[in-house]
Amino acid sequence: MTPPPPLVPAYIVREHVEVFCPWCGTIHIHGTAPGGRTSHCLIGREYTLAPTLAPMPEELRRAAATNRRRLSNYLDRGGEYTPILPDLDGIQYDANDGGVQHA
Ligand SMILES: [Zn+2]
Repeated sequence: MTPPPPLVPAYIVREHVEVFCPWCGTIHIHGTAPGGRTSHCLIGREYTLAPTLAPMPEELRRAAATNRRRLSNYLDRGGEYTPILPDLDGIQYDANDGGVQHA
């Protein structure tokens, strides 16, 4: 049985949301409508947006920058790629998961 797509925090940025992709470990941009998406990367798998009221933590931005370099290296050479995924415990999700609230 295929597990359901993971819930990923969606951080509001103006009229879009930023997501730290659990598949490639870099940042992807999506529209604010809640629900499922296909990741914008060559790994191309599903996740479900979980709107948050917080900006993206700096820890995720740093990991995403590192993963972007590693992914580029992987694409050049082939082989195994496992993204660095910081611990996401403590992320506050939007209580009404149906919509992103603008600051
Ligand atoms: Zn991705």
